[in-house]
Amino acid sequence: MNHTTLFYIIIAIISINFIIDKILDALNAKHYKDQLPEELQDVYDEDEYKKSQRYKATNYRFGILTSTFSFVLTLAFFFLDGFAFVDQLARQITDHNILVTLIFFGIIMIGSDILTTPFSYYKTFVIEEQFGFNKTTKTTFILDKIKGWLMTIIVGGIILGIITWFYHTTKDLFWIYAWILVSVFTIFINLFYSRLIVPIFNKQTPLEDGSLRNSISKYAESVGFNLDKIFIIDGSKRSTKANAYFSGFGNEKRVTLYDTLVNDLDEDEIVAVLAHEVGHYKKKHIIFNLISSILLTGFTLFILSLLIDNPLLSEALGVKETSFHIGLIAFGILYSPLSEITGLIMNWFSRKFEYQADDYAKNTYKAEPLITSLKKLSKNSLSNLTPHPAYVFMHYSHPTLLERIKNLKQ
Ligand SMILES: [Zn+2]
Repeated sequence: MNHTTLFYIIIAIISINFIIDKILDALNAKHYKDQLPEELQDVYDEDEYKKSQRYKATNYRFGILTSTFSFVLTLAFFFLDGFAFVDQLARQITDHNILVTLIFFGIIMIGSDILTTPFSYYKTFVIEEQFGFNKTTKTTFILDKIKGWLMTIIVGGIILGIITWFYHTTKDLFWIYAWILVSVFTIFINLFYSRLIVPIFNKQTPLEDGSLRNSISKYAESVGFNLDKIFIIDGSKRSTKANAYFSGFGNEKRVTLYDTLVNDLDEDEIVAVLAHEVGHYKKKHIIFNLISSILLTGFTLFILSLLIDNPLLSEALGVKETSFHIGLIAFGILYSPLSEITGLIMNWFSRKFEYQADDYAKNTYKAEPLITSLKKLSKNSLSNLTPHPAYVFMHYSHPTLLERIKNLKQ
């Protein structure tokens, strides 16, 4: 194979990916106005259902615009040898090979972020605003950007720097060292995400003593689950949409409830949502996800190590001098069909796990408040209740509301 063939394989992968995505979106959009099934009739009243249809259609059109923009831009970048240009730029600044890689990715990241920021601004301050979801102030929006950038530069820079160093010093074995580094980092972030990352963006306060805390403790005790770390997070700082999640394991395990969730649901419903989260823990989904993500990382790094030294990767992108960063870009795209497949498998597991967690909540608590809470949450985020099955299969990490309710009523 020569480098021109490889170049067109890369272009084909990007294009096919884009086309499949657009077909799925279009299939899904055809069902936006479907009659709601019997079980879901009481989620929306007539006006709200109309509003949810407008929200879906607006997001659909916006999605076509943004994805087409980034598709065209990506192709232009490939055809105009953009990566070779950025590579040259980085090499003019320094000839230290680790620094060149860091500067290269720095320029790509900052460049693409500047180009996409107008879209996320529009999404937040026009679309979400128009439908009454947005609570983000301009200051929060700008601060989020700056904090996000700093975090990527510091954390991402250190990890990428070390991996590049491994590559230059340990050659064939670099993937094993990189794997160990990424695994340790993944476990660390899993354990301390709520303590280290969340406080940069949000305020968390322990759930105060009172009737809600009592009900939660009573439930946790009944299933022999040690749950003393329950936090309320100020999600309302950014959006009216509600959420709850579980993080960490062992002594670091904790449940975080959005303040919006506590406002939208009654006590019984909150305990039911919590029972679902406890179900994820008890059924070992948290550990399963952690281990499979570590194994997948090892697999990806191993494949990377087989290809990265091939000069074809750099040549395909118009770069004469073989380098780690150009190889990574080419690999990232060549590997994407495989990562699509592993993503599908992980989504499939995730949907199974949602049923198991729902069943756990049903068996150890009650089904009814979980059903009403899911309905309320869907209503308050104007969720799509009639997604196309192919779209669900490809993109959904959770079963649809209808499927979950049917399962809970069984
Ligand atoms: Zn869940």
